[in-house]
This record gives sequence, structure tokens and C-alpha cells, in this order.
Amino acid sequence: RDALVEIRSLSIDFATGRGAVHALRDVNLSVGRRRIVGLVGESGSGKSTLALALLGLLPENTSKVTGNIELEGKNLLALKPEQLEHLRGRRIAMIFQDPMTALNPVFTIGTQLVDAQRNRHPDLGRKELLSRAAAMLIRVGISDPETRLAAYPHQLSGGMRQRVMIAMALLCEPDVLIADEPTTALDVTIEAQIVDLIKDIQAEFSGSIIFVSHSLGLISELCDEVAVMYAGKVVESGPTRGLFAHPSHPYTQALLACEIDPDTEPGERLVTIKGGLPDLVDVPSGCIFADRCPARFEKCSQEPALREVAPGHDAACWLV
Ligand code: ATP
Ligand code: MG
Repeated sequence: RDALVEIRSLSIDFATGRGAVHALRDVNLSVGRRRIVGLVGESGSGKSTLALALLGLLPENTSKVTGNIELEGKNLLALKPEQLEHLRGRRIAMIFQDPMTALNPVFTIGTQLVDAQRNRHPDLGRKELLSRAAAMLIRVGISDPETRLAAYPHQLSGGMRQRVMIAMALLCEPDVLIADEPTTALDVTIEAQIVDLIKDIQAEFSGSIIFVSHSLGLISELCDEVAVMYAGKVVESGPTRGLFAHPSHPYTQALLACEIDPDTEPGERLVTIKGGLPDLVDVPSGCIFADRCPARFEKCSQEPALREVAPGHDAACWLV
């Protein structure tokens, strides 16, 4: 298999006053070249933890990391911090949910777009990097780039800041672009424009994209493959079309049912499934979704492994 990124049995704990939070448990994910892979799951399911692990930016209180994250066969977890730093912004880049967390308020957009390219183009001077930045701003739909390059982040609208973040990530020419809920902070019209932009980019971008979202609608529109996460586990994964046509895990089925319910707001759709995520400090044994599952039966007191329901389509449920 020539996957670009291969995550194998990844488990991650965070130390807290209550004990270890098991944020990811035995997660497998494969990202092919030029593919867009969606990660979906409700708040707290571990999507950002997975993204940060790929970037080598896990929080300080990370107390356990086991498994493998391979980029072209090289285990990122075995790299030294400075080696990871070198990969970030060159091979792997991220578009964050809130651009204000990634943009520095005290520097102009121009300075930040120049700095973002330094790893990738150490040979180019500021002037050349600025003109590359200006061209990229036009590419992401920002007119009058000279004015914008001289501006500070707070002088731009939210939608424009998100475009700047996308430009920043693309200027790194990464092999893997991670977009963690890039549209949730935006209103629907702007969201649609950003989604169109991401689609456009994909057509000419030679890298792979990991797209994190609460919205199954967005995922089905953008992604080739999807992994559904629940409480730190991937419970179902496969080609988008097959998975949406034949959702096999009761959690995926419930997500889809919420999504098409017109009475729920986009943001609250995932939480409309009765009950909440289990305690990740004291993870119950057996199937992780059993507590909330309408189809639960005796067997569910044991943990089901992912099993193939169709080629490339796996689900972790005793019913499959
Ligand atoms: P959201 O949709 O809200 O962004 P998510 O799927 O990205 O959620 P994560 O942020 O990966 O979820 O969090 C997974 C779990 O790990 C959650 O229970 C969260 O509270 C916990 N967690 C994340 N970071 C830390 C940390 N630094 N210390 C302790 N617990 C953490
Ligand atoms: Mg998150």
C-alpha cells in the first residue's frame, strides 16, 4: 500500500488531576496520496488530538503516546523535536478552527506569510517571499493583496482571516494539509465559499488533506474517505460514498439521522443523540457506544474489533 500517512494503533493519554484521560485508543488511519480524508465525531471524540499528534504539537500534559505515525514509512513519533519542527510547515501544515489562535496579533499578515515559507524556501529573500504571498492571497480570493499584507489580523474579517490561514498553509506546499473545523467560526455563506475554495485547491494541490468536521454534509461533499470517531476510537471508516450509502455502525447511523433532521441547528446536531460520551478517565469495558446504542445486546459487553463490511469499509460493531 502506498499510503502517505499511516497511523497504527495510536493511543494517547493526558495527565489530569482525576487520572489519565484516554483521548485516543488504538486508532488506525491511512491517508493515501492526494486523498481527502474526513474525520467526524462529536465534541471530545479525539479529532484534534489526532491532528496535533500528526503535527507533533501535543500538549505538555501528554502522558502516554504509543503506536506509530508514519509519513512515507518514517515514524514521526521517533523524531527529535527539532526534526519535527523541520517537518512542520514543510511537509505537514494545519488550518486551525480559529484563525486568531494561529495568527499573531502583533505582526502584519505579510510578515507572517513570509515566516511561514522560510522552512520551505530558505533560499528566497523577503521580497520574493512577499510576492509569493501576494499571489497566494489572490489565489484564495483576497483582492488588493498589498493592502492586506500590510494589515494586522484584527483588521480583517473572520472569513478573510480564514482565507489568510489557508494561504499560509498552502504557501508551505505541504504533503499533508490538516484542516481542523476550518469553517465552524464562519456564517453559512462564507462557509460555502471556503468549502468551494478547499475543493478548488484540492484540484491542483498535490498533497493530501485531512478534513476535520462536525458536519457530515461537508464531509460527504469534500472527502474521498471518512473515519467516524467516538470517544477516542475509530468506530467506522471507509470510502465516503459507500459509508454514507450503507452506514454500518449505530453511531454513524445516528449521526446521519441527526444531520437530516431539519429541527436541529448545524452546531448541535451531533449532541442530539441521547446520552453523552463516556468518561475517558474511567473508560467502560465492552463496546464504547453500548450505553447510548439503540441496538445493544448481550455481546456488547465485549469490545468489538473493526471488521470489514465492504472492501475498505470497516465497522466496529457486533452487528456487522
Ligand atoms: P471538538 O469537536 O470539541 O474539537 P475533539 O474531537 O477535537 O473535540 P479533542 O480535543 O481531541 O476532541 O479531545 C479529546 C479528549 O481529550 C476530550 O475528552 C478532551 O477533554 C481531552 N483533552 C484534550 N486535550 C487535553 C489536555 N491537554 N488535557 C486533558 N484532557 C484533554
Ligand atoms: Mg477539536
